[in-house]
Formats: sequence, C-alpha cells, structure tokens
Amino acid sequence: MPLPTFSALERARACAASAVLPKVGSSSSAADRGSAMHLYAALYMKSASEASALLQISAEFRDDCRAMDLESLWAELTGGKASLKSGTLYVELALAWCPSADDVRVLGELKDRAYGDLPQTHFCGSLDYAVVDKPTGRGKVLDVKTGDKVTNVDDNGQLRAQAVSLADAYGLETVEMVVAYERGGSWWFDRYTADSMDLAMWASDLRDSAREVFAAEKKHAAGKTLNVSIGEHCRYCPAFAACPGQQQLVQQMPVLLAKVPADVDALVPVEKLGQAYAELQKYKRVIDAIEAEIKRRAKDEPIPLPGGGVLKEVLTSRESFDTDAALAVLTAELGEKKARQCLSVSVTKASISRGANGESKRIVDRLREAGAIKVTTTASFKELKVK
Ligand code: SF4
Repeated sequence: MPLPTFSALERARACAASAVLPKVGSSSSAADRGSAMHLYAALYMKSASEASALLQISAEFRDDCRAMDLESLWAELTGGKASLKSGTLYVELALAWCPSADDVRVLGELKDRAYGDLPQTHFCGSLDYAVVDKPTGRGKVLDVKTGDKVTNVDDNGQLRAQAVSLADAYGLETVEMVVAYERGGSWWFDRYTADSMDLAMWASDLRDSAREVFAAEKKHAAGKTLNVSIGEHCRYCPAFAACPGQQQLVQQMPVLLAKVPADVDALVPVEKLGQAYAELQKYKRVIDAIEAEIKRRAKDEPIPLPGGGVLKEVLTSRESFDTDAALAVLTAELGEKKARQCLSVSVTKASISRGANGESKRIVDRLREAGAIKVTTTASFKELKVK
C-alpha cells in the first residue's frame, strides 16, 4: 500500500487508519462539478481560451465554469501582473516525496492524476498550480477548492506536503501557499508564505505521519483492529464503510435513539446542548454515509421498500441555453434588436471583473452607492472558533 496522496494527508494526520483500511470510491454531483471546474480552469490557464476550454466540459457544468472569474485567479498566480514576471508556471504538476530518503521525483504535468507504479514509500500528489522561480529561490503552490472550507492554509497537511515537495524538487527557500476558494464564480484566497524553517519542520511532521501509517499498516496486516479517531475529517473518508469506529457507532445508535425522548428535558442546561450537538454530528455522519451508500446502490438497481414501493434513481432533464451560441442563432434568425429582447441579463461580481479591466472594485462601489446591489440575508448555523 503506498503512502496517502497529498490530498488524503490531512485526514491521515488526524487518523492514520484512514490510509490503511479498505476504500470504497464514490462520486457525487458536487465532486463532479468540482472536477469540471478544476479542468476548465486548468485548460484556460494553459490556452487562455474560454471557448476551447468550455468545449471539453460536460454541458451541465458549463454555466458554473463560465461564471468563474479566472482573471482574478490568474492575477493571484502572477502577483497581479498580466503575465508571470519571472519563473515557470506548472499546471497539474505531479510530485512524489519520500519521507525516509532524500528522494523527490517530478512526475510532470499529468493528466487524470495517473501516477503509475509509484514506490510504496512515497507521498505523491498533483499541485493544481505551481510557480517555480529558481534564481530567486521562491515558489508558489495554489490549490483550488470548490467545496467546503478546509483547514487554514498554514496548518493544512495537503498544502504543507505540496510546499515541502516543491521546495525539495527545485531547491527553493520559500514557498507561498494559497488555497483559492470559489464562491459563485468569485474567489477568496487564504495565503501563507513558508520559509525554510517551516519547510524543515513540516518535512519532519510528514516523516511522523509516514511512521504512523506504516505502524497502522503493520497492525492491519497482523489482523488486529486499528485505533481510529472519529471527527469532522470522517465526512468524506473513503474507508468509512470499513471503519471499526463507525461500525461501533452504528451498533450504538438504537440505544441512543431509544434514549432521545427521555433526554430532551436533560438538554435544558446550555452546556448540555453543545455536548448533545457534538454527539449528534457523529451519528449524523454515519447516517449520511449509510444513506449515500443506499442511494449509490439504488442507481444500479431499484431497492424494494417495506411499504411496497421502490427506491430508484429518477433523472429529470432541464433544458438551458448556451448564451453565446444562442445569441448567434437568435441574431441570425431575428435580427440584433429582437435577439437582445430574448436575453435575460444577469450581473455578477465575476462578470463585472471580466468586463471592467481591473476597475471592478470601483465599479462595484459605484453600484452600491447607486443602490443597484440587492442584499439578501439567509440564516445558517456554523461552528465557529472562539478566540
Ligand atoms: S471514518 Fe474511520 S478511518 Fe476514516 S477518518 Fe474517520 S475514524 Fe478514521
């Protein structure tokens, strides 16, 4: 079993068993959307042509891709310049780093993250974007996230492994790390610059993680039950179905549920509410995982339900128009004026940024002053750190 990939490292740091237990691959619409947006951004960065990049994206995700403000992403990579001032930009650069020997391998700009037959002894992974400037000894790694917020960039196992590997591969002294969050086409950046002290310390942490994974692997091979650590990191764990900790929770669930009515009164003291919420999240993760697995199987074959019905996947299609292609046809058929009447126009911060040539902030401020921005407030509950 090879060591975990960079992207699985954050979880392996919290629970080494997750790198060892059998994995079940699964996909979701959110994951497919994320993959499409990663691919689109990568194609755009390489060819700088939106039209040709869009052609390679599945139709259902084209609107999401089109809405992405890729110029801001490009500016983040180049330090706000139109092109890289110095250094080389790599897209999907795959690296492999060995914790027990002075060995780092540059596997190249790989398609589909096909790492081939890597030695068991290497952490490996693909960097969404990397900039290497050997003469100055500086580098940059940028990782795109289209889903949930992840651990802060300076404490993030994935980004730390990327930075250490890039520095070792190219002899760099400092590496700027960036997590780029996509939110409705716009970006929010979490940044940190790692110096040589950080990099040396994180390399040592990586060696510790490797030792823990190898120890768990040895225990697993001997047929012993692994120690696991349940937490928020379990949410997308591919070893969820084989996890002894989750299986134990499933067994305890009926007992917990039987206690709920009797415990409602006991929830009144506020400190108990927090405890109850934390407990509930543990069980919710198990329930969500079981439900996802049932739905995955129902895709292959309808599942008979106790009431006589079946659970099956139902596909619903919704037609939508590709604006650019539709406008060309409408103009040819109806003339420009009527074609424009057929359009429904929407304005987003991403579209302003695309059209405003670096003046988007000033223009958004103007729009705000003119009362042209409507604020809609929605309520949600978040777990926040108390400082
Ligand atoms: S599901 Fe199990 S194996 Fe995976 S991270 Fe959680 S505790 Fe570890």
